[in-house]
Amino acid sequence: MRTWELGTTGIVASAVGFGGIPIIRLDREAAAALLRHAVDRGFTFFDTANRYLDSEEKMGLAFAGLRDKVVIATKTGMRGAKEAMEELELSLTRLQTDRIDLYQPHQVSTPEDFETLLGPGGAMEALVKAREQGKILHIGVTSHSLEMARKLVATGLFATIQFPYNIVETEAAADLFPEARAKGMGILAMKPFAGGMLDDGELALRFLRREPDLLVLAGCDTAEQVDQAADVFSGEAVWTEADAAKAEAFRQELGSRFCRRCEYCQPCPQGVRITYAMMYKVVTKRLSPAKAVGFSGATMETVRECIDCGECATRCPYNLPIPEMLREYLALYDSHKQGAV
Ligand code: SF4
Ligand code: SF4
Repeated sequence: MRTWELGTTGIVASAVGFGGIPIIRLDREAAAALLRHAVDRGFTFFDTANRYLDSEEKMGLAFAGLRDKVVIATKTGMRGAKEAMEELELSLTRLQTDRIDLYQPHQVSTPEDFETLLGPGGAMEALVKAREQGKILHIGVTSHSLEMARKLVATGLFATIQFPYNIVETEAAADLFPEARAKGMGILAMKPFAGGMLDDGELALRFLRREPDLLVLAGCDTAEQVDQAADVFSGEAVWTEADAAKAEAFRQELGSRFCRRCEYCQPCPQGVRITYAMMYKVVTKRLSPAKAVGFSGATMETVRECIDCGECATRCPYNLPIPEMLREYLALYDSHKQGAV
């Protein structure tokens, strides 16, 4: 497995890290077995978050006795000092460790977030203190907003930046990544599969394998996925004209207005199954319209309950006009339904 240093942190880790969301779906024993398999295949970097339900706990269980072999990154969604400290203590307990290698304020997106985080009594005060106490070794940050990520990098306060980067989301390459590199920051690429929208996982990983210094966070819930990522990041970078053509076809298919399935917009007070409904257009391309009606019917029927309150759109880190898109997909679904009878 290729390894490299994460910015100027001194952390040397596998070029592909393990993203901790998918293990939520596994039971504790299966998750621990998968994480240990990842260690056997050369993964040394594991990223989780306080808000990923029991993901931290499962990592704590898996890494008992292996702590010195792995680099653990986790996150807090709290913006105030007291609350962030409480989450840090909880993470230490769940992860069964006395130190976290990289601790990251999670998904900093709005100007209010930024001000609270860095202002008096903000989480950053607590994290700096925790770093002095040795509970945290480095402080990084994550964001889904390009503008905010650049602002965070410009502060010079963070050792790493974690941002989405994949075949269809390449905006960060223009300014954000060069600015982070110039500050000696490590770069963590999240969402290599565009939130599950890229169904050719090997192609998605090989696209990222060509980058000189990105630590790619691949979420895995099967041994096959772990093996695929380990194989891609153990071998040479291969990218052919045929690969480039396939990548371009994905870009054309998904466009820029696509849902990354992060679920931050949920829950809807009206019970609309937003994330699955937002997939309808892609589902119809992969299945036939008639099959898509059968497959997504129960979901799409919930869209009729939308009262256009706009609450979901305020929570979408990608600023998707969710109610408008849902209306569009419902009309498409209705036309398919009519065609199917
Ligand atoms: S706009 Fe519609 S889908 Fe979004 S939260 Fe309101 S009711 Fe739910
Ligand atoms: S609509 Fe936005 S917030 Fe909701 S799952 Fe999709 S990308 Fe995430």
